[in-house]
Amino acid sequence: MYDFAVVGVGPAGARFARRAAERGYDVVAFEQGELGKPLACSGHVSLDVWDYVPESRDSGARQNSESSGGVPEDAREELFQNAIHGARFHLGGADSEAHPFYKDEPISNAVDRVQLDKVLADAARDAGADVREQHTVTAVSEFNDRVELTVRGPEETFDVTAKMVAGSDGPRSRVRDALGLPDPDEFLHGALAFDPEPDHERFVDVHLTVPEFFAWRIPRGEGGVEYGLAAAPGEDVPALFDALVEDYGVEIEHRCSGVIPIGPPETVTSTRGFLLGDAAGQTKPFTGGGILYGMTAADCAAREIDPDRPTTLTSYEDAWRDELGRDIQLGHLVRRGYSAPQPVQRAGMRLFEGEIGVHMDQPTSLFSAEQLRALLR
Ligand SMILES: Cc1cc2nc3c(=O)[nH]c(=O)nc-3n(C[C@H](O)[C@H](O)[C@H](O)COP(=O)(O)OP(=O)(O)OC[C@H]3O[C@@H](n4cnc5c(N)ncnc54)[C@H](O)[C@@H]3O)c2cc1C
Repeated sequence: MYDFAVVGVGPAGARFARRAAERGYDVVAFEQGELGKPLACSGHVSLDVWDYVPESRDSGARQNSESSGGVPEDAREELFQNAIHGARFHLGGADSEAHPFYKDEPISNAVDRVQLDKVLADAARDAGADVREQHTVTAVSEFNDRVELTVRGPEETFDVTAKMVAGSDGPRSRVRDALGLPDPDEFLHGALAFDPEPDHERFVDVHLTVPEFFAWRIPRGEGGVEYGLAAAPGEDVPALFDALVEDYGVEIEHRCSGVIPIGPPETVTSTRGFLLGDAAGQTKPFTGGGILYGMTAADCAAREIDPDRPTTLTSYEDAWRDELGRDIQLGHLVRRGYSAPQPVQRAGMRLFEGEIGVHMDQPTSLFSAEQLRALLR
């Protein structure tokens, strides 16, 4: 019997598998397809992402790495695409007035998301987890003393028994349904595509032109330029996306789309199971970003959960909410600003635009000393 069976090897599942294996647990992790594919993510992340890339790839150069976009040198080649210093907010389309928010140094990086998943999964394997691609978990049954999974592999279908199951199988989580856990509050529909023309610009563009959310343009260095948007259910996302691309007057290729869960449910744990990442709705309500929140929660799970003591699931539930709860709450408030009347939005932009001191994953840093200093400057 395994200690943990992990379903889904995106950032959250890979991170949990790695950390649990490092603690000496017997971990098996199943990924239904090829790691990182199909792509349905911008891979726009704060510099904190480098803390999760394995130490052997992290030269510790982060503090001295401004010239390299804040990226540790040896991870750069594999994952790094562009260093971003800020965002230009627009209330209209491509040619509308821009309200810049920025720092002098890089705030975030555009990274190769497919490669990121592979690197994180390799780290889990190096730590001793048994990570298997092309393995789909088709059923999960929970008992008082174990969980049983049915797994369809390339050659055969087989059963696996574990003391606990981690559901890190994305926004439409099958594990969540099997454990009878509630859905996140809302599912946005996201779409993106690429103009292959290289662009090393330092700003992303954000357009508050989409109902309840936004559209974006992300320069990805040699990876070209990404155009994307996310919108609430019921919106005609393909039509909104066509309008965005037409407005910019670009030819795009490699269209893809995905679901973004917003608002975690009131519980993400059961008798012998727990959810991580998008399955648990652990995303930023004001951007939909979930790579770092999912990995943060995975660390909480690996630290708190003892597979022989199911009561420790409560400790995980408390720990991740302690870590992320306030930022998620404030993130909902920030998102409400996207639906405010335009004159209010314009006044807010003009008041706060310029240099900022906020951390892009932490809306609570709006109240930090750094942000106050930036405002006074
Ligand atoms: C358009 C768009 C843009 C985004 N941009 C950003 C961004 O710039 N920055 C950011 O931080 N976040 C972004 N996100 C969100 C980000 O992609 C997710 O928050 C993140 O991928 C969540 O990681 P995860 O490991 O929880 O889930 P996932 O990355 O979805 O991984 C789940 C894995 O489980 C596998 N799986 C599912 N079911 C099974 C099964 N039955 N058996 C085995 N395997 C299974 C899937 O194949 C998948 O690999 C974006 C999302 C969208 C849709």
